[in-house]
Amino acid sequence: MPMPEISPIKMNAVIPEIFSRESTSFCNSKCGGSPIENFGDDKDDTRLKISGMTTKDPLDVMHEECGIAAIYGSPDAARLVYLSLYALQHRGQEAAGIVTYNGSGLHTKLGMGLVSDVFNETVLDELKGNHAIGHVRYSTAGDSSLRNCQPISVNTGNGRIAVAHNGNLTNAIEIRKNLEEKGAIFQTNSDTEVVLHLFAKSKETGFVRPLLDALRQLRGAYCFVFITKKGILAARDPYGVRPLALGKLGKTWVVASETSAFDLVGARYVRDVEPGELIDITSAGLKSHVISKVKNKAMCVFEYVYFSRPDSKIFGHNVYETRREMGRQLAHEAPPPPDTDMVIPVPDSASVAAMGYAEVSGIRFDMGLIRSHYIGRTFIEPKQSIRDFGAKIKYNAVAEALKGKKVVLVDDSIVRGTTSRKLVRMLRRVGVKEVHMRISSPAIISPCFYGIATPTTKELIASKLSTEKVRAYLGVNSLSYLSEAAMLRSTKMNPTDFCTACFTGKYPIALEKGVQTNNTVPC
Ligand code: SF4
Repeated sequence: MPMPEISPIKMNAVIPEIFSRESTSFCNSKCGGSPIENFGDDKDDTRLKISGMTTKDPLDVMHEECGIAAIYGSPDAARLVYLSLYALQHRGQEAAGIVTYNGSGLHTKLGMGLVSDVFNETVLDELKGNHAIGHVRYSTAGDSSLRNCQPISVNTGNGRIAVAHNGNLTNAIEIRKNLEEKGAIFQTNSDTEVVLHLFAKSKETGFVRPLLDALRQLRGAYCFVFITKKGILAARDPYGVRPLALGKLGKTWVVASETSAFDLVGARYVRDVEPGELIDITSAGLKSHVISKVKNKAMCVFEYVYFSRPDSKIFGHNVYETRREMGRQLAHEAPPPPDTDMVIPVPDSASVAAMGYAEVSGIRFDMGLIRSHYIGRTFIEPKQSIRDFGAKIKYNAVAEALKGKKVVLVDDSIVRGTTSRKLVRMLRRVGVKEVHMRISSPAIISPCFYGIATPTTKELIASKLSTEKVRAYLGVNSLSYLSEAAMLRSTKMNPTDFCTACFTGKYPIALEKGVQTNNTVPC
């Protein structure tokens, strides 16, 4: 349903008009709080439930937090954003939202669940207008309620505006504290709301100048799309941590986190929204503004390792090619032992790297593990506990293909190690003779503060244990990771333009006091 109109209010105030949001401080509780002190404990699923993560997320993977999209100049704007969000669904499955502008007001639809759960023909018919923005969101813990859904729409003295955000602001707590001391009242526990307060507080007028004013005060990782009565705006932080691409469909402008969205709606890739750029698209055309510039970028290399779809182009390069090259480099650095029968991936995320590994090693690529794509967001665990249930519901091993074989198992990364251990056990149970594990990225030792939901340091298995101890815990015959240098070489881009902090602990953007990972602050 379109949201009710609310009268404009005075400058220096922000009123989200979507629904009543509780006034609350940033959550300081650490999700995943139970330390994994014994990596050999088989009750990992129970621990996940205790720590606030439920059986909907029993597997230990790093999660992308959000995907964003925007359309300018189409009578089908809502449907095009809907399709774009569909193509970005892998970046967030908790909630989805679209805001359109039809010449008289903003129209909003937000909801919990998948894009296909939230929107249907009737809803899309009500989202009228020629421009639109949208958001898909993932949250791991705490508040996954409607109040943190995006886009967030507000009335300000500068006019009505809505925003959708992908990333994590590392100085949001400090800015919020300052604003609250001056009387600002926050309505969500999302860092995104900070940019709206700064926009409303700006002494500049219009939309572009107050936004530039606001964006220049932010630190950390952000890609934003905004919608106003004039058009849409898209911004990327000066380090370019998260991807944001610009495309064209006839005369319609399209903005999306990944180009897979362009392919679905039939748009062509034009270029990336550059690091430190604010793009303003109105009836007067496209204008580019500089937020600020830094010497070295810090693009997230994990987008290539795992997050982005392999059919997307991000940071100007195809993910499939880069991921396959990571597999090739891995085969050079950690070749298979003699008499290996087959290379199998952990599907689907490691399939492309495994193909690269098989290509260089000359060993047959095969699918020994099958992944179910239809488990949905929730499932009911049987009352009678089934060993490794969480992994089994997602993967199954093909005994006929694997029995008596010596295999190289390729995965893109190891986070807690609990899933890898279960998969190895699954392979052993169907009679695999030897399992040699190869990881197409370095060992993860540090959490992400730039927009990725990550377990805490103590939960990252490689931050505590040596490679040999991780090997023993997983129960594999050998274990090797791709080196940082080879991972960066695979991108064929300037290696100093990447963030590798989760592998090295060296954070390219200063972490201000109290900064939290995205496992506690939804984007
Ligand atoms: S810390 Fe890791 S996941 Fe986070 S931005 Fe850097 S490379 Fe990406």
